[in-house]
Amino acid sequence: MSTSDDIDSKIRDLKDIWEGKKTPPPRACPKCAGPMQSQYYRGKVTWVCLHCGKTTYGGPLEGFSRLSNSKKIGKYFLHGLAFSLIILVLAFAWIFATVFLVLFGFLIGLIVALALLVFMIGGINTFVSGLVWGFHMKVSAVSIFLHGLALSLVLLVVGLVTIIPLILLGQGFVYVLLLDIMLCFVYGFVGEKIAEYWIE
Ligand SMILES: [Zn+2]
Repeated sequence: MSTSDDIDSKIRDLKDIWEGKKTPPPRACPKCAGPMQSQYYRGKVTWVCLHCGKTTYGGPLEGFSRLSNSKKIGKYFLHGLAFSLIILVLAFAWIFATVFLVLFGFLIGLIVALALLVFMIGGINTFVSGLVWGFHMKVSAVSIFLHGLALSLVLLVVGLVTIIPLILLGQGFVYVLLLDIMLCFVYGFVGEKIAEYWIE
């Protein structure tokens, strides 16, 4: 094979990886050890035995790994946008609740308000992850709280990092808009990666 053919095939491989066309390694049927063929539909992967017809389901992340990179990037944006919009709406309710809790409960009220916020963040990301990626999420109170806690800590760091350019470069409308659009990708990426730990 000449060098240019070699480069061509490498480029084709890269293009296939980018577009998610790489076929997964073949799988042997657990019943008869025959060859299985995979089917991909709406984020779910199903394996069907060509010999005996036995059907098994792929893992929760198999559908995700089959998505093309361009699809993933689009979905990251969608995830971040949905997450931001829902939290924006719920933030008003949370602020009212916090004022009430702190007025009547002081420090304990504040702790309850923060726990509520963590639950809210975990709950929203659980909902959005199911909606955007088709993940089956753990929905117990403990899972949602821990999920929310992990995401809150990462978002706190992201928030602190993004405040720095905002202070340095000013707060022009276009700049804030561009930053918000960029943040949707970041929130979506972070949200999806953390959600993977709480998939059922
Ligand atoms: Zn079989």
